[in-house]
Amino acid sequence: MLVAYTEDRKRISLIRGWEKEQLEKLRLNHRFVCPVCKAPVRLKLGTKRRWHFSHYGEVKCSIELEAESDYHLLGKEQLYDWIISQHIQALLEPYLSSIHQRPDILVHYDGRYYAIEYQCSPIPLTAFEKRTNGYLQEDITPIWIFGGNRMTRKSSSLFSLSPIEWAALQPHVKLNNFLHYYCSDISQFFSLMNSKSLSSQSALSHLVTSKIRETPFQTIIKGEFSLEQPSNELWLTIKKKWRYSVTPYPNRAQQFFREYCLQQNISHYLYPIEAGWPTKNHQWMETSPHIWQTLILIYLSTYPIQTHFTFKDVYRFIKELIERGVCSTRTLTYYDGHYSYAIMSYLQLLIQCGVIRRTNTKEFIRVKNVQYPQSIDEAIVRDEAFANRFKIN
Ligand SMILES: [Zn+2]
Repeated sequence: MLVAYTEDRKRISLIRGWEKEQLEKLRLNHRFVCPVCKAPVRLKLGTKRRWHFSHYGEVKCSIELEAESDYHLLGKEQLYDWIISQHIQALLEPYLSSIHQRPDILVHYDGRYYAIEYQCSPIPLTAFEKRTNGYLQEDITPIWIFGGNRMTRKSSSLFSLSPIEWAALQPHVKLNNFLHYYCSDISQFFSLMNSKSLSSQSALSHLVTSKIRETPFQTIIKGEFSLEQPSNELWLTIKKKWRYSVTPYPNRAQQFFREYCLQQNISHYLYPIEAGWPTKNHQWMETSPHIWQTLILIYLSTYPIQTHFTFKDVYRFIKELIERGVCSTRTLTYYDGHYSYAIMSYLQLLIQCGVIRRTNTKEFIRVKNVQYPQSIDEAIVRDEAFANRFKIN
């Protein structure tokens, strides 16, 4: 950490302006304590690592459970400099006693408080949720910025996101969502915009890079990047991939999906045109969209045409698959809602493309049978036509 107190409650921040001799003198004449647990900490003025304070021996302090790397310390300092250089009020590592939390930086901007959490090492999802909710409870907007060293890019638009990274997705009015990384080695932000879920880890995202010095604070907190409207093309290549993909070691959902399709005499490669779309709220489901959406379509086919079913029926069907561990859902801390929103949005797409119709607020009827493609070539052509015709998301 970069901040500690002297025994006479003087706040010492290592951020700038210190000569080594000054700090050595200070160290000689004072003892330092951790702002959080009040245990003594030592001031480390080595030549290999950045100067910092650290606890003695085995650490029981809630703040220092994650070892701070130089990468993290440097990034924190750069982010702090970047904010105050824009004449925005900011505090480095303030301890918020009401929630027992210490953000890396607390910012007061445009009448609101923001807690910047620069996260370079993995933390458990429960800790992430606890911290995020702690800030929200105090009406502070948490802004998670992950270390650039954590970004996993698989190809130009394919990324691997951990459950915490998914949980840190912030909703965006036009571009669905955003998520930031910052690399302190090259002083650049990497922002993933409009992330769509392909499976529990994989995301299709639009990457924007920006140099810290050229990026206003506002851009980061609001995700204000101007991007061209995303086209359906990339998503169509994903749908195609699912049609061709051979998985030698299927996971539970894939295994179940194959067997369920087989029971209906359907090849899982020829899953319906109407399934596998990134509808609104689909991110609540971890399971690949072509799987859970096909399962819904097959389930609906058990209702004869023109007979009623309710949202609750479909919800119960998916809920049971989740309870059995076939399908899985994820935590989206910044979103209001629940995986039922993903189901509802999908039913709306099915209404749009005429598979079902709503008869009143709670009831639906199935209007027509799904026409399964007979070959992958046919499926590809029809997928494209579908994407051009209907508003997917
Ligand atoms: Zn401590």
